[in-house]
Amino acid sequence: MADETITKRCPRCKIIKSTNEFSISRFNTAKDKLQTYCKLCHKIFRQTPQYRKRQKVYSKTKKGREIRLIACKKYYAKYPERLQAKNAIAYQIRYYGFPKPSTLMCVLCKKQAQEYHHYLGYTKEHWLDVRPVCKICHKKIHSSIVPSGLSEQPNTEQCKVVASQC
Ligand SMILES: [Zn+2]
Ligand SMILES: [Zn+2]
Ligand SMILES: [Zn+2]
Repeated sequence: MADETITKRCPRCKIIKSTNEFSISRFNTAKDKLQTYCKLCHKIFRQTPQYRKRQKVYSKTKKGREIRLIACKKYYAKYPERLQAKNAIAYQIRYYGFPKPSTLMCVLCKKQAQEYHHYLGYTKEHWLDVRPVCKICHKKIHSSIVPSGLSEQPNTEQCKVVASQC
């Protein structure tokens, strides 16, 4: 069971390694679909400014979504109750025929809505208290219109609009 045929030379460490030592790359157009560098070198390479710069270029293209997803995850790690509220809606849409925001009208500008805003906050009893809004209005709601007498504290009783997204 000699695996001599499936080896690849890593141009960085200059060692001929088994292809198991190389990760499969989705972006690589090479016919073996393997990353140029071996796993070990790639790990090191990922920490170089050169690689980071390349990532930045990527982020402006199709990588952008992925990057945003990570930012989104961080955001929800910080505000887990917002994720729960969002998930509750997603669940209703999926299984209980709750209308998709895209089928509704933004309550503010009357254009097509894109998301739901939790206008009563994110506590469990208000998970389904949402208003369809477009992304632009949603951003506006969270960035500027904070009801008077309301500090930055989310989830207070009279909280109609809570700082930040969703
Ligand atoms: Zn290597
Ligand atoms: Zn709108
Ligand atoms: Zn909102």
